[in-house]
Amino acid sequence: MPKIETTAIHAGNIKTATGDVTQPISLSTTFFRDETGGYPGGHMYSRVSNPNRAALEQVLTQLEGGADACAFSSGNTAGMALFQALKPGSHIIAPDDMYWGFKKQLQSLFEGILEIDFIDLTQIGEIAQYIKHNTVMIWVETPSNPLLKITDVAAVASIANEHQLLLACDSTFASPCLQNPIVLGAHIVMHSSTKYIGGHSDVLGGVLVTAKKDEFWERIRNIQQVGGAVPAPFDCYLLLRSIKTLAYRMRGHSANGMALARYLEQHPKVEAVYYPGLSSHPQHEIAKKQMSDFGGMLSILVKGTGETAKKVVNSVHLFAQATSLGGVESLIEHRASVEGPDTKTPQNLIRISAGLEHIDDLINDLSQALG
Ligand SMILES: *Cc1c(COP(=O)(O)O)cnc(C)c1O
Repeated sequence: MPKIETTAIHAGNIKTATGDVTQPISLSTTFFRDETGGYPGGHMYSRVSNPNRAALEQVLTQLEGGADACAFSSGNTAGMALFQALKPGSHIIAPDDMYWGFKKQLQSLFEGILEIDFIDLTQIGEIAQYIKHNTVMIWVETPSNPLLKITDVAAVASIANEHQLLLACDSTFASPCLQNPIVLGAHIVMHSSTKYIGGHSDVLGGVLVTAKKDEFWERIRNIQQVGGAVPAPFDCYLLLRSIKTLAYRMRGHSANGMALARYLEQHPKVEAVYYPGLSSHPQHEIAKKQMSDFGGMLSILVKGTGETAKKVVNSVHLFAQATSLGGVESLIEHRASVEGPDTKTPQNLIRISAGLEHIDDLINDLSQALG
């Protein structure tokens, strides 16, 4: 098996009649049939499949060590396809700090359709007591947003297998370079490719990768093709281009994330730092076991109130005060005010996405903003 850097560069290049070294953008929505009624080019209509999406799905499948992938127009529609594939009346177990967009989706769009228990999935010993006769899936998110909690994927996989449940993992914060949930025992991996996979804050996308091409996966493929929440060829092209440098970007993000975490941990105005690479992190040992590095996401609690935190994010010059994550530019945000009035995120929490600028410039900016 080639290593990840090699797969990222080569797995998405599908041979073309014109001999392109790089996958060209195929804008055609429809494809020629032959006299037998078949589709000699392998594609019929671009909602169903097209060359750029096929290339993207191929490279993501290989990067995650899966059997197949479905690309969607956003991370949210990727997750939604999975929730839609479950039978109405199903019960799922999800983390209490699940990505707030999914929590909102489950509570509004799936109200009366799916039953959900939001629990602390870092407490492995307590999961089994929430499994009911209609439980079909455990959804984990690791590292989690915004507290960077780490869930032991292999441990949850053994619980899921024992009870014949699906295990899905939102692996967005890790990217396919830092952890591979399928290899750890998950059945389906989800990414918002808007984040590290895209990596340049200029394309929205999502993906599901499966460990097995089974009947449940066919339901998801059907939702993708018939529902039609698919990425445009140009978006697929951008993602394919981004993936080629993913492994190198993740090294830079992880190095900057670690350096910022260490700097902030000893800063007198900082009360706590949440970063899985720090030995002070409560699940640091699990992170070391299932991740190859710790990524560029960290959160801090500043000493003081929500107002103190807002003052810090309003004082940066180099960091962009904006939501989202995983781009080359560093971002900073006051998370509670992004999530709205019913958030459980502490008011003095600041979330940071470490970009790829020089670490000295990032530290200087935070140093002057913290005062
Ligand atoms: C951003 C994000 C999503 C949603 O993805 P979109 O591309 O914004 O729809 C899901 N999970 C996590 C962890 C995210 O950060």
